[in-house]
Amino acid sequence: MSFLEYAPAPESKAILNLRDSYGLFIDGEFVDGSGKSFTTISPADESHIAEIAGASDDDIDRAVTAARRAYDKVWSKMSGRDRGKYLFRIARLVQERARELAVAESLDNGKPIKESRDVDVPLVASWFFYYAGWADKLDYAGLGANPRAHGVAGQIIPWNFPLLMLAWKIAPALAAGNTVVLKPAETTPLTALIFAEILQQADLPAGVVNIVTGAGATGATLVRHPEVDKVAFTGSTGVGRDIAKAVAGTNKKVTLELGGKAANIVFDDAPIDQAVEGIVNGIFFNQGHVCCAGSRLLVQESIHDEVIDRLKTRLSTLRLGNPLDKNTDIGAINSAAQLARIRELSDIGEAEGAERWTADCAIPDKGFWFAPTIFTGVEASHRIARDEVFGPVLSVLTFRTPAEAIAKANNTPYGLSAGIWTDKGSRILAVADRLRAGVVWANTFNRFDPASPFGGYKESGYGREGGRHGLTAYLKGAAA
Ligand code: NAP
Ligand code: MG
Repeated sequence: MSFLEYAPAPESKAILNLRDSYGLFIDGEFVDGSGKSFTTISPADESHIAEIAGASDDDIDRAVTAARRAYDKVWSKMSGRDRGKYLFRIARLVQERARELAVAESLDNGKPIKESRDVDVPLVASWFFYYAGWADKLDYAGLGANPRAHGVAGQIIPWNFPLLMLAWKIAPALAAGNTVVLKPAETTPLTALIFAEILQQADLPAGVVNIVTGAGATGATLVRHPEVDKVAFTGSTGVGRDIAKAVAGTNKKVTLELGGKAANIVFDDAPIDQAVEGIVNGIFFNQGHVCCAGSRLLVQESIHDEVIDRLKTRLSTLRLGNPLDKNTDIGAINSAAQLARIRELSDIGEAEGAERWTADCAIPDKGFWFAPTIFTGVEASHRIARDEVFGPVLSVLTFRTPAEAIAKANNTPYGLSAGIWTDKGSRILAVADRLRAGVVWANTFNRFDPASPFGGYKESGYGREGGRHGLTAYLKGAAA
């Protein structure tokens, strides 16, 4: 297939003002870490970005102690109205520094600049604006007679939406009156550290937010710290299980946002071109590194061939390459480890008998890349139909009746999200009602809004983020 070549249109890195090395952000200051430092790289070319401090157990203790002190002395005594002012200020500073944050995110994570610029960073600002508006209304929102914060929140986030997951965690925690110690993922700490600079700019009182960088062990120590009252985790189901065990029998509250294997269901009366765009957005957005990705396409048998033909044509037009190029649709895979996992599961898919098709695109010499891939002829028992690939890999299954579509969609240990494509409103309502998924999109996919709760059933975790529901997770005794 031929299409017009685009001239390169790279976003300039000149806006970045990166340091060579970053310390831990504790009690309002960047301080040295006493753990093992590490390097964060750009997954697009494996180039070195910055040296990052590693937090030792003592450092985590210092951070939690700072958060406790800030809670007792400052934050718990401040009015909701004043807390809200800080959140509004943070939201405005995120907007002011939006371009810088987008470039840093694409550099460190590998996602296309058009996504970090048009999706991640605007949503980060909207999350802070949204929760800023809640801070002074807690007493009037049916959250109980005297809604109170838990105290210190220990928060752990993954690498797929580094700054957005930070916003999902920090904005409601602060609005509800908690203080925070947050650990970003090891491969994507950069925007959390720039965010720490924003907190200094906003004059947020020292210790209200602390950021500790490090590996998985840093997270494990944080969730076990006795002074942490509330744990919020987003990441894999395996680590989520470990955290649930660690907090069992303690007074800690916990919310877990884990993996997914969402069904994206296309009925024969769906507007096909729109559905194809929705399928592409569902699984190839952010290289498929999306917990709620539409990774299992369930397509009605009568339109299977047509949908797959159009999908392949569409995928052949996607541009894979430099994340900082404004024309790029598919960026880099976040790490060598994640690339190895995607390759392994795809090889297993082929070995189990599914038919593999890969978009014909040039793969850059350096960095971690995986071309958009579709598996057809997938059976429910195949690993690629059951396991989360967390990459640009779509598994296609078919169905004949709505009942079969629902049964297949629910045939998974996960239950985070689902999509329905049909012309009939009545069918949308009937099917959505029977899907065991926390979020169901109809004739769209991967839409996020701070006012809308998000979270899963079964092995996709428990608790909700976003909206009023997301606030209750950070308040004592508040019912969702
Ligand atoms: P992960 O290995 O679970 O890591 C998530 C975070 O936990 C990272 O900061 C990680 O640190 C830290 N961590 C690792 N081991 C830990 C331990 N024993 N105790 C405490 N913290 C620990 O997951 P990932 O590979 O980064 O992310 C991919 C997964 O996240 C996918 O399964 C995806 O579905 C899920 N996810 C879910 C949502 C949602 O909202 N439901 C959103 C995004 C992603 P290091 O980075 O240093 O290892
Ligand atoms: Mg990185």
